[in-house]
Amino acid sequence: FFVSFEGIDGSGKSTQARRLHDALHEQGRDVVLTREPGGSPGAEEIRRLVLEGDKDRWSAETEMLLFTAARRDHLERVIEPALAAGRVVICDRFADSTRMYQGLGRGDLRAAVDQLHAMMIRREPDMTVLVDIEPGVGLDRALARGGAEARFESFGEELQARMRAGFLALAEEFADRFVVIDGNRNVEDVAADVAQAVRVRLP
Ligand code: C5P
Repeated sequence: FFVSFEGIDGSGKSTQARRLHDALHEQGRDVVLTREPGGSPGAEEIRRLVLEGDKDRWSAETEMLLFTAARRDHLERVIEPALAAGRVVICDRFADSTRMYQGLGRGDLRAAVDQLHAMMIRREPDMTVLVDIEPGVGLDRALARGGAEARFESFGEELQARMRAGFLALAEEFADRFVVIDGNRNVEDVAADVAQAVRVRLP
């Protein structure tokens, strides 16, 4: 069973992915927590290339290819083997992030993102948890945290608002697998809703 977490920067999705991992582990489930961009040694190298450089280092098109290359490596080496072994895989971001950030955020590349996905990735999560928050809330959290990812977070509230709307539209486009959770609340309340949503879907 493959669960992805999505949301804008500062949404709390990484915290929620970890909480879900810990809760399922305590229940005796065989569960793997991983993340994108990254999640395998090669993909983590690509993550550094993309996130730690100067923000104009790559064009939108090249960035799309790099994130897809990272996803392919992560999928081959980590996700597919774990799913084949019957493990639950929880991934902090997956292809929906590329549909949004490279497909919508940096330009109008959604058609190219979809074609590349159809050729090289194909896999979709069984369930995607969208942790939805107000853009201002996310930006404050993300800026307070700082760190290597500030390159993307510095794009500001306008991008955050656009990405939030984009993710909500994506949740309607893929309504069969998306669950939208209100992330503007405290960690425990959000975690309880996530746990409930997963419980009813887990085989
Ligand atoms: O989720 P996380 O905070 O690790 O993401 C790192 C940064 O990479 C974020 O600022 C996110 O917006 C950006 N990102 C991106 N395109 C992706 C995935 C992440 O621009 N496909």
